[in-house]
Amino acid sequence: MTGARLLVDTGAIERNTCLFAGLVPGELMAVVKADGYGAGAARVARAALASGATRLGVTSIAEALALRDAGVSAPILSWLNTVDADFGAAVMLDVELAVPGVAHLDAIGRAAQALGRRARVHLQVDCGMAREGCPRELWPQLLGFAAAARSRGEIEVVGVMGHLSSADEPFDQTNRRERDRFAHALRLARTAGFRAAVPHLAATAATLTQGAAHHGMVRVGAGLVGIDPTGTHRLDGALTLEAQIVDVREVGPGTPVGYGHGWLAERPTRLALVAAGYADGVPRALDPAAAVFLHGVRRRIVGRVSMDQIVVDLGGLDAAPGEYVTVFGPGLRGEPTVGEWAAWCGTIPNEIVTGIGPRVERVAQTSSTREAIGAAR
Ligand SMILES: *Cc1c(COP(=O)(O)O)cnc(C)c1O
Repeated sequence: MTGARLLVDTGAIERNTCLFAGLVPGELMAVVKADGYGAGAARVARAALASGATRLGVTSIAEALALRDAGVSAPILSWLNTVDADFGAAVMLDVELAVPGVAHLDAIGRAAQALGRRARVHLQVDCGMAREGCPRELWPQLLGFAAAARSRGEIEVVGVMGHLSSADEPFDQTNRRERDRFAHALRLARTAGFRAAVPHLAATAATLTQGAAHHGMVRVGAGLVGIDPTGTHRLDGALTLEAQIVDVREVGPGTPVGYGHGWLAERPTRLALVAAGYADGVPRALDPAAAVFLHGVRRRIVGRVSMDQIVVDLGGLDAAPGEYVTVFGPGLRGEPTVGEWAAWCGTIPNEIVTGIGPRVERVAQTSSTREAIGAAR
């Protein structure tokens, strides 16, 4: 245990889930990959399933099996696996699988046949990212092989999925082009006989801003913990990272701080040593404006971020060892948000939250309303 903890507000996750469920006509899949965006996969899954989500999505089979181990029985889809993955375990535990090509289809079909069961699969088409999913030119061939595997009793096709490259820019014309490609791939799938398959294309950004991408289901991850990549909605921030003050010292002008003496005190000041470093998710590549929140004010991080610690310039502020500083939070009290941290680090909020290290204790809390969070502090 270190002196850093991540407070996870399950009430905020529930409110965000309700908002998403209310936006779409079809089903809501809660995406809880990367340990539920740092918040704890099973915890986020339970909160989301209690508030309108009907399915779960993860990257790997291992993540799906961990949810089963935690007692989660809802349908789970795993969409990125190597061909030698344990498809047998997935089929045994009712984990649905994305199929991006014939090699995966074969491996999944063999695993299902060996168990005498049908694998539930989602055919996955690449709508223009040259990333996961079947290249469009190979799609008709994949549909043919999938139809054969279905008639052999190996698979049941329960979904057709795609993904958008530029949904965080709602006005980018690429969105329309990729939606059209998905619609075309879907028509081909229907023609090939996969009429019952649920189409799904949108993640958080397209769910918030592109009704035409909603189809029968949406897959929302970042939005559940309060990240809106489009900046168009007010979601509830669910994550607060706090770290404890280890020590406070007075220093004179010219005192160097940290590795490489990355900062020199210009005047007499007070420094707090705080127990969170880059191993805990405070990125080393940081803008000098980066600050933490203490006693209602922001105080800058000075010197380089170390693996386990940072130094904060308290100025005239008094603080005692053992007190917690807020690294980021929902922003209701004036504390930095995940979005500000992302800007300070030249990245997106998703990378900040999934970068929170494993030794940071996760503590679940529940706020009943947005206002309650602010008032309680
Ligand atoms: C991560 C992921 C999502 C969820 O994306 P968010 O932007 O976090 O909502 C949806 N679909 C796929 C295929 C993903 O990899």
